[in-house]
Amino acid sequence: MIDLKNLTIKKTLESLQKGEYTSVELVSAYLEQIKKVNADVNAYLEVYEDALVQAKVADEKRATRATSGNAGLDSVNSLLGIPFAIKDNILFAGHRASASSKILEQYVAPYDATVIAMLKEAGAVFIGRVNMDEFAMGGSTENSAYGVTKNPHDLERVSGGSSGGSAATVAMDGALISLGSDTGGSIRQPASYCGVVGLKPTYGRVSRHGLMAMGSSLDVIGPITKTVEDAELVFNAIACVDADRYDSTTLTKKEVEEMTASHNINPEKKPTKLRVGIVPELMNLGGLSNEVKENLDASIELFKKAGYEIKEIAMPNMKYSLAVYYILMPAEVSSNMARFDGVKYGSKVEGADLLQDYLNTRGELLGKEVRKRIMLGTYVLSSGYHDAYYNKANIAKDLIASDFKKAFEEVDVILTPTAPTPAFKIGAHTSDPVAMYLEDIFTVTANLVGVPAISIPSGFAEVDGESAKLPLGIQLMAPHCREDILFVAGKKFEELRG
Ligand code: GLN
Repeated sequence: MIDLKNLTIKKTLESLQKGEYTSVELVSAYLEQIKKVNADVNAYLEVYEDALVQAKVADEKRATRATSGNAGLDSVNSLLGIPFAIKDNILFAGHRASASSKILEQYVAPYDATVIAMLKEAGAVFIGRVNMDEFAMGGSTENSAYGVTKNPHDLERVSGGSSGGSAATVAMDGALISLGSDTGGSIRQPASYCGVVGLKPTYGRVSRHGLMAMGSSLDVIGPITKTVEDAELVFNAIACVDADRYDSTTLTKKEVEEMTASHNINPEKKPTKLRVGIVPELMNLGGLSNEVKENLDASIELFKKAGYEIKEIAMPNMKYSLAVYYILMPAEVSSNMARFDGVKYGSKVEGADLLQDYLNTRGELLGKEVRKRIMLGTYVLSSGYHDAYYNKANIAKDLIASDFKKAFEEVDVILTPTAPTPAFKIGAHTSDPVAMYLEDIFTVTANLVGVPAISIPSGFAEVDGESAKLPLGIQLMAPHCREDILFVAGKKFEELRG
């Protein structure tokens, strides 16, 4: 029996290397577990038929390497045999990818996303694709065309979203690692609801080529894992060394170097005395639950114990983030979704003429939330309102970015809760979109500004005197390209929590 619960990448690689089990045995153990729990949780939309074939290839590679005297792992095979789940909006050649939408139910990816190509190179094994909110629009997977993904900690609650399937599958031991995408919190919020780690890298650090676009200026792919170290290892495998020629928004080597150097600290230097910024005014925003407040205070105490300096900082424009996000994101959504017209991609519902084709196809095969965002986006971009909404939101975005610039002159990392509440009950926010959008209040800012952010498990909340304990998470944000600071602070935090 492989103890799936306590696996990490390092432990797994060691065991595979020592021959304690093979990659085929490991993947079989995950497939067994998926059989046991997926019917309840609904994380996987599809387990790939070739998962075991991929595992066999990994075993063969390991065997050849051993006989050629090159048994150690280098960057080419840094994740040899490690099982991954893929969010349903990332392309894996020859396999389905539906973005949890009816319109792409039959769509088969014609090429690999850059991240998938890089992970293949590193030796990863892909077990299957996992559920999400349709086209990544949502925070609970309730907008999936294939049913909600339930929280493995409490099946009456959501797993978060939009990468709810990705977070739930790591929490239920359905894969060691999963890939998610984050436009406004979609990696971090579900990670926090499910008690796992979620990393949103710096915008442009990981290629978006082969990720179905939602808000192109905000989207980024990142890992969901059990530990910060695992998130770091996967980040190292998927971050572009230089700009990806298939994604013009990826950063060049030079840009990464310049950004890294512009915040001049070495977090590895001992004793590490990072400066942690906290934003008191954020704590007064409505909707923050008491458990989350208490948990944040306890987390601050832990950082103090680590010898870190806690500094109160002012972020006067951060309170506009949510409004700015819910203008800019739909604007980009409305243009990105134009390609789903029943002609270029996906299924079609025929009408009497071309216009009726469009209306039928988009009306019947796209869900309500997606259609709502297309309409909102079209509205904020329309000639009469462009200045009032879209342009104004862009001005506010620049102000928020200047808050961050100033803050990072005083601190190395900013600490907030990941979400204002623990996982909510399925259906609780269905009739109240604003309550649903408020769940994103702490996460959207990092996307608007492009900085890296991580959610780390920080304890449990007992809600309404219920016996089930619900996971909570803290969020750390660092300057552009300083994921290393997040990893150092995050590992320290894990260590102190024990
Ligand atoms: N919950 C947010 C939204 O609905 C974030 C989504 C995301 O990051 N993909 O827009």
